[in-house]
Amino acid sequence: MKYAKIAAGILVLILLFFSFSKPGSHSETEFLMDTVVSVTAYGPHAKSSVKLVFERLRELDKKFNAHRVDSEISKINNAPANKAISVDPEVCNLLKTALKFSEDSDGAFDVTMLPISNLWGFTSETPKRPDEKELAAVLLKSGRHHLTLDENTCSITKAIDGLQIDLGAVAKGYAAEEAIRLLKEQGIRHAYLDLGGNIAVMGGKPMNVWESLFTGKKARPFRIGLQQPDAPRGTVMETVSLSDGYVVTSGDYERYFEEDGKRYHHILNPKTGYPADTQLKSVTVVSDNGTEADMLSTALFVLGADRMEHLQDRCKAIYTVDNRMNFKTVKPLTE
Ligand code: ADP
Ligand code: MG
Repeated sequence: MKYAKIAAGILVLILLFFSFSKPGSHSETEFLMDTVVSVTAYGPHAKSSVKLVFERLRELDKKFNAHRVDSEISKINNAPANKAISVDPEVCNLLKTALKFSEDSDGAFDVTMLPISNLWGFTSETPKRPDEKELAAVLLKSGRHHLTLDENTCSITKAIDGLQIDLGAVAKGYAAEEAIRLLKEQGIRHAYLDLGGNIAVMGGKPMNVWESLFTGKKARPFRIGLQQPDAPRGTVMETVSLSDGYVVTSGDYERYFEEDGKRYHHILNPKTGYPADTQLKSVTVVSDNGTEADMLSTALFVLGADRMEHLQDRCKAIYTVDNRMNFKTVKPLTE
């Protein structure tokens, strides 16, 4: 009798353990690529895999960050005109993708906006509305057409002095994709990454044993909240359920300053040199391709609601918030 009680007790303990146990997970957060990056991986090798991911992300930041003096991008930016600069093949490839996408987006996406961003001072302590003449002069010396890329030699040539590149609107998307690839290589099947508004998910969120028994599934889609612009962080307007893919938002509410009651944000219209003014506060894109998702969210933000149509097929879903805070599902997610 006594042994039966002990056995029953042990059984209850074992059941309790399994009912709450999930595969172990490991999360880390670090400031990289001018933003807060967090990576969560689930499963037995979670910790070592997350560490490897951060090593890779640091390496990518070193290559792609225009605000680092030792980056490959700074090498291009400091070079004079008409001199072929050989760059790292990975930089060459991403630049090629970005330049091709510039064409596809009818110039709404343009990686040569750095001198204009600097004129506005978005990353400085004292941002200000620039002098119109000065802005017009810098704009004349910007534009993707002044860049030539030789794929065979991985070299870049600038047609004019002062042209400067910034991959800030695409590098985080590419990095997210690289992180997912690396995690898969390490045998990780479930992960959640947030690179400053670029969300990447893999394999859904693992369930505990009871949940798995009831549903017959091992994981459920991650629930990704879409932030309400200008509201406290975590105020969600809509939730996207996704197991695998990328969810990227571009908006006017993270990096901006105000002057004479008007908001000036960091996503520029390459045709005018002014912050894109298309009555949108945010655009969110869902895609299976992280690099594209990042470029698309920036480009659609610049194009605005009326000019999005030709890029819609490249998105799995699109959500917008306009400046009256109306949320709109431009293209629903069908999975
Ligand atoms: P965030 O980097 O804040 O997530 P985005 O992906 O939309 O937002 O990228 C915006 C950044 O890209 C800006 O900070 C600037 O460095 C650069 N940028 C600004 N306007 C453009 C544009 N029209 N095309 C490409 N890059 C841009
Ligand atoms: Mg972007």
